[in-house]
This record gives sequence, structure tokens and C-alpha cells, in this order.
Amino acid sequence: MVTIKSKKEIELMKQACKVVASVYEELEKHIKPGITTLELDQIAEKKMRSLGAIPAQKGYDSGIRGVPKFPSSICVSINDEIIHGIPSKYRVLKEGDIVSIDTVALKNGFNGDAARTFIVGETSKENKRLVDVTKQAFFEGIKYAIPGNRIGDICHAIGEYVQSHGFSVVREFQGHGIGREMHEDPGIPNYGKAGRGIRLEPGMTLAIEPMVIQGKSNILELEDGWTIVTEDGSMSAHYENTILITEKEPEILTIL
Ligand code: MG
Repeated sequence: MVTIKSKKEIELMKQACKVVASVYEELEKHIKPGITTLELDQIAEKKMRSLGAIPAQKGYDSGIRGVPKFPSSICVSINDEIIHGIPSKYRVLKEGDIVSIDTVALKNGFNGDAARTFIVGETSKENKRLVDVTKQAFFEGIKYAIPGNRIGDICHAIGEYVQSHGFSVVREFQGHGIGREMHEDPGIPNYGKAGRGIRLEPGMTLAIEPMVIQGKSNILELEDGWTIVTEDGSMSAHYENTILITEKEPEILTIL
């Protein structure tokens, strides 16, 4: 069921989303060669808690038998890792890495969700292009996030933009509605047909998140039951914001 948020609920959503934006402001200062992904996780958790939020991904249950709950406050996925990488004291960032971080903060009963891909120092031109196209794909998608349009209009715009730049979108994972639950209806794939799906209405809050691969779209899951990687070992990037559908242009809630 797609939830339409009341004015009061939107205020609470905004608070949770601002926490996520603040986490990225903090993390950005620390993205340097030599830092471990566990240290980034600790910095993010401290920031969230200092702002009265809790890391919603910590203890998240995939529902798949035999897979432990997600142990960390954020997902940190390096290079060919697409999403759901588990922070570790053994993973050290190095020059040229591209690091995708996904953060969900829960505050006052509402979730805010955003992802960024950071470049560690200097990286290749092609990696930079991947990161830029992934971010721009989000902005291409939300051009269609206005009342009366359909969810498929957003999906189509993202998919077409990514493909036109020679990259692939991940097909097995998608954006989503968000609110009291981290994942609400509707699902928002990064590809699809324009004119399909539910109609957008003011008060909907949506997490739109292009996940883009430099090479082929095929993915694999690592044995930890969480980390998703590209099958061909090519690089991947992720960019996400929680947005609010308004009467006019959408409002991006997870930026400061
Ligand atoms: Mg996310």
C-alpha cells in the first residue's frame, strides 16, 4: 500500500532525512586513503545517535534463512561491490577507490534514506564518469516526479539516461516508497516503461536510487549473504535521495 503522508508526518520525515544528510557531510571529511570501512561505520553511527536517530539498517533482517541480520549502521560497498557491503576493520580505503555508502536513519518513527558514491583521492576518468552519470540519473528521474505522472515515467527516464551513456542498471534491486517502514510501496525500478504504474500524488515520499554498473548488468551475491557485486568485476556506483512529491516540483529531503 502506498502511504500518503500528512503535514505532521512530512515534518517528521524531514527530520529523519536531515540526519542522513548530516551523516554524509560528516563522512565526506573522512573519505581518505587509509581509513577502514569500520571506522566510517562508527563515525556514521555516532553522528546519527548524536542527532537523536538510530541506524535503521543495523539488525535488519533479510528474511532469508541462514543469513545473519545486517550487523552495521551503514552499507559500504567498494568498487565492484554494488550495495549492502558490510563495514570491516580489514577493509581499508585506497587511492582511486569508488565507495558507495547507503544510510538509513530512523527518528521519531520515520525513516530517511540516501546513498552517495565517494571517490577516494583521484580515480580514472571512466570511474568519474560512472559516478557522475549515476548521480545525474537520479536528477533525470525526478524531473518526472510530479503529480499526475506515473511511477514508470521516473523509472524509464533513469534507465534511458544510464543506457545512453553506455552503462547498465541493476535490475534485481530498486527504489521504494519510504516512511514508517524503510521499504514501502511502490517499488521503483531503475528501468521501465513510461506511462505505467501508479500515479504520483502530493504527500508520497519515495527513495529513488539508481544503481549503475560500468559493464554488464549481471550481479552476484557474496557468501556473507549481503554483499552484491558485479559479475564481470566492473565498477559500480549508487546515488539515492528520499524525495517528497508536492503540488509542483519534488522536494529532495536528504540534502542540507
Ligand atoms: Mg538506501
